[in-house]
Parts: sequence; structure tokens; C-alpha cells
Amino acid sequence: MRMFKKKKRVAAANTTTPEGPEVQPWEMGPAVEITAMGAADDTQNQANLIQARQSMGIVSAKEIVAEAISKLADRVLLDYTRETVTVRMDIDGVWHPLNPLDRQSGDMLLAVLKKLCNLNIQERRARQKGEFGVKYLGDKYLCKLTSQGTQTGERVILIVEAVKGAKISKLEEAGMREKLLEKYKEIVNHSKKGMVLISAPPSRGGLTTTWVAALGSVDRFVRDMVTIEPINDQQPEVENIGVRTFDPADGENPAKLIPKILLKQPDTILVPEIADTETADLLTNIVDDHDMRVFTSVRAKDCAEAVLRFLMLKPNPEKYSQNLSVVLNTRLVRKLCDSCKQSYPPPPELLQRLGIPPGRVSSLCRQFQFQPTEGQKEEAPPICQECGGIGYRGRTAICELMVIDDKLRRAIVKQPKLEVLRQLSRQAKNRTLQEEGILLVAQGITSLNELQRVMKG
Ligand SMILES: [Zn+2]
Repeated sequence: MRMFKKKKRVAAANTTTPEGPEVQPWEMGPAVEITAMGAADDTQNQANLIQARQSMGIVSAKEIVAEAISKLADRVLLDYTRETVTVRMDIDGVWHPLNPLDRQSGDMLLAVLKKLCNLNIQERRARQKGEFGVKYLGDKYLCKLTSQGTQTGERVILIVEAVKGAKISKLEEAGMREKLLEKYKEIVNHSKKGMVLISAPPSRGGLTTTWVAALGSVDRFVRDMVTIEPINDQQPEVENIGVRTFDPADGENPAKLIPKILLKQPDTILVPEIADTETADLLTNIVDDHDMRVFTSVRAKDCAEAVLRFLMLKPNPEKYSQNLSVVLNTRLVRKLCDSCKQSYPPPPELLQRLGIPPGRVSSLCRQFQFQPTEGQKEEAPPICQECGGIGYRGRTAICELMVIDDKLRRAIVKQPKLEVLRQLSRQAKNRTLQEEGILLVAQGITSLNELQRVMKG
């Protein structure tokens, strides 16, 4: 990792030399501006920052944050053992190991991170959570720190989030192709009533982003839309959608609020997450009884699974199947780095296997592979400045849309099985997730290897 080489240089610069004044630790490393947070008042935060700035750990902290931001990493994981600290970064959903730190440098780094969050530096066992602010290259970020003792030492997770809020606000920005988007908008904007089911895989599968983007692509300005969310777990705000909250700790659920909300006659009700049969049942009923649209979401790996996940909440199956109009599912996939991706002519049998008609695609793209000429054999492979040699940069979503027809409706009631739903969906001319992914490969947006990797998950 870059930070090591730099560290040696800056360590030498820290000593007072006859030529000039001493360089303070906080003046070294990348130009990351840090704000301490978490203390009771600004004075204490400022005192914490001053103390942190005097430790050499501040240089590693700045370097780690700058590296995470420039590589678009979502999380940094530090694992402390007796001798060393392993460092990994989650970049576009894949863990990349970096060079380990020696234990002493790792401890200085952690003491600084905890100080910036107003946490207890001496506490190495109990779980601690805090945050601090960062400004780098003109943008603001919030760094969320969690530390927890483990059998071998301590585990630290640092999440670096841009402060601008959800960056993706429409389905086309999430990666949905134009024709599919038209189909989605046709269904949700032109029909007065119906149920829309939004889904993405569990565990960091991008459900929140998909939810925000799916609503962002709905015509919200001619409709009266209300979302019902738990008070302790609210979704990012979407413009022109009213918010009502309930407190699950008080035994409340969305079903308890819906009758009151209906008095104001909104035309769309949204419940991002449903945990009880009462709400699931009521939501499927009000589509008919009040001629309205409802949106909800579940965690699932494809549209067929999403249909069954909602069914597991045990709504009335007839009402549910009658009123379900469309299911959206997304799967995140890494995009090939535009600066270093390589194109290659695909063998005809590969195109055939992928179901791409002959003559449609003359080249596919893959991750950079160094192929040295005779004279370059001894040379180290060049490192791409854009992606740092990873070959991928950023992610997009493979979007699957299942428009529910009468055959699917009957199957939801009579044969609610994954394979049956998938087969009927294909018959109804809905493209599968895999087929949608191949379209991205054919356009050179991602590679076949990457598609295979994410489809396995
Ligand atoms: Zn690259």
C-alpha cells in the first residue's frame, strides 16, 4: 500500500533538523481536512482534534481515508492480531487486501480514529461506535467507525460515505436500459391501481438505492404519495413523497396507520418494509377497495423469488395475485474500467452460448491483462491510474422486470414455485436477470467473468 512508503518518508521529516522548523504530523500526508465529532460540545470536539493531530497516527488516518475515497471503497476493515494489522478495502462489493500494518503503527492509527469519534482509546474489547467528518478534494464525507474486541485482538470497520446523500435517484442512473424503463414507467405511471414490488438481494445488495431510484422514476408530481416507515429506520427522502412514521417498539405497524392515511385519500401508499401479515394483507386489499397504487419491497435474488417472499408474509393469495402488476429486481455488477479495459473478438460458439445472434456483436470487453512483448518480458505490468490496477471502477445494476400476466397470477395461487414462475415469466417475454446481464456484457459495460461472479451469489 502506498501509505507505507510515504510513512517512512514522513517519519524522517518529523525530526527537527538544523535546516528548518519541525513539521507537525497533521501537516503531512494527503490534503484531507478532518472534523472531530461525537463529543458533548464543540470545545471538546476541538480538543479531541488537536490531540489527534499531534500523533503520527493522523498521517495513516488521512492516507487510509484518501485511498478509500479515491478507490471508491465503501468500507475499510482493520483486523488486529498480536503482531500485525491486516487491512482490506471493500471496493464495489469485492474485498481487496492491502499491505498489513505493523502493530505499533496500527495502534497509533486506531487511537487517532477513536479520538476523532470521542470514543475510549483504552477500550479494546467492548463494541464502540462513532463518526467523524472529512473533506477531501472539495467533497464532504462522513466516516463511521465501529470497533469490537475479537479472540485474536480487535476488528475495526470504517465506512466512508459521501455526504451528498443518495447519488442515484432514477432508474436510468442505476443502470436500467431505456426500453425496460419505458415499460416500467408505462405500468406504474399509466395505471391507476396495482401493486409494485421492488427487490434486491439481501446483505448490501443495493435495495435502498433500488427503492429510491424506482420511486424517482415515478411521476410524483401529479400524484399524492405517502410512505410509511419505522421511526428508527427511515429511507432516504424522495422529493414530493409525504412521510408517516410508526414506532415498532410501541407495538405499532403500518397497518395501524393506513386507515387514518386513507381518510386523506392519497392515490399511492408506500411501505418499504413489511414484517407482519396484517400489513401485507391490508396493502393488497386497499388496491381494490380504494383504487390505488401501493409500493413495497422485499429482499430477493430475482423477481420470481421476490413474488414468493411477499407470499410468505401470508396475505390473501387471490387478492395478492390479482393486484400485483409488476416486480423489479436489481443485481449489482462491477463496471469495467474505461481506461484500461481490453476488447477481444468473441469466438462464435461463445456468442451462441450467450444467445447473442451472429453478426450482432463484433467485440466483447474484459479486464486488463498485461501481455508483454518480447522486449517487455522483464518489466512490471503498468498500473492503471483510474482503477489502481483492479480493472473495474464503479458499479451498475442489472435490472430485471417481471410484468405479471394472467398465467403468472394463476400460478401465484395454485403453483407458487420458483421454477414455475420463472418459466411462465419467460413465456410472458420478460427477460431473465442473466439475459439482462448478457446485454451489459455485449455492450462492453462489464465482463463475462464479472457477470458469472455476481450471478453465483
Ligand atoms: Zn483501469
